[in-house]
Amino acid sequence: MGKADLHTHTTASDGALHATELLKKIKEKGLKTVAITDHDTIKGYLEGKEMAAELGIELIPGVEMTALWNNREVHLLAYMFDENNEDFLMLLRRQKRARILRMGAIVEYLKSTGIDIDLDEIRAESGHGNVGRPHAAAVLIKKGYVGGVSEAFIRYLSSEKLKDIKTEYASIEEVIKITQLAAGVISLAHPGPIYSRKEIEALLEKGLDGIECIHPSHNFNVQRTFKKLAESKNLLITGGSDYHGTGKSDYDPYLGIVTIGEKYIASLKRLSERRKN
Ligand code: AMP
Ligand code: FE
Ligand code: FE
Ligand code: ZN
Repeated sequence: MGKADLHTHTTASDGALHATELLKKIKEKGLKTVAITDHDTIKGYLEGKEMAAELGIELIPGVEMTALWNNREVHLLAYMFDENNEDFLMLLRRQKRARILRMGAIVEYLKSTGIDIDLDEIRAESGHGNVGRPHAAAVLIKKGYVGGVSEAFIRYLSSEKLKDIKTEYASIEEVIKITQLAAGVISLAHPGPIYSRKEIEALLEKGLDGIECIHPSHNFNVQRTFKKLAESKNLLITGGSDYHGTGKSDYDPYLGIVTIGEKYIASLKRLSERRKN
């Protein structure tokens, strides 16, 4: 049985590698199946298709969606959706716009603390990809306001610091509904470090299909607990490395190491197939 990684990022969002480069690295690591799950965009997935075919890697449709739940931003991993579904594509366009608007508000907040920064600089940092806080962090580092990404998040970009900023991300209900109507399957991303058990139960009740049990932020005990929870609720198990590219994330060393068995991919596919009929 081959190994799979269902959580990776590219330059289409806040990753360091272009999809083609990421796939070459994935090939070196010996993985058979991968999902490119950029933040609120399938551009990285689309950019990777040709290279994946060339390398004999199975690239499955994926995206990490941001959704609003009780005024909080939660990450949901969508897989196996129909990438031509108009409502799904419209949702992604809305999310892209929400990201830009939110970054505008973040810039205003940073300016109010005395920082000299503008939206264009941050958008330039994001290149052709969806803008996100790591791009703002990169500009703060370049301009010498902070020494590194962690410091940027602690001092300026944490959810706590930005709690008064209203965002236009779609609600969790909408994200789940639109994804499932597009024959997609949707899993709660990296719940371990973020939510209490009660919150996880409440999130799952929104109609999620699975739990990302395997993630670098989950130790073996946490993995086992989530696997048991998923099994007890008849939910799918997903997992991956959350690789963002060298030097950008604490999770970077786990590409090729934090993986899941291919049998889990078959379950995702079965559920998606059922939704097509
Ligand atoms: P955004 O997409 O704008 O909400 O930014 C979220 C992204 O920022 C996550 O996907 C991570 O890649 C990154 N991130 C979040 N918190 C931290 C942190 N404390 N240190 C470094 N990167 C972080
Ligand atoms: Fe990220
Ligand atoms: Fe995430
Ligand atoms: Zn991620």
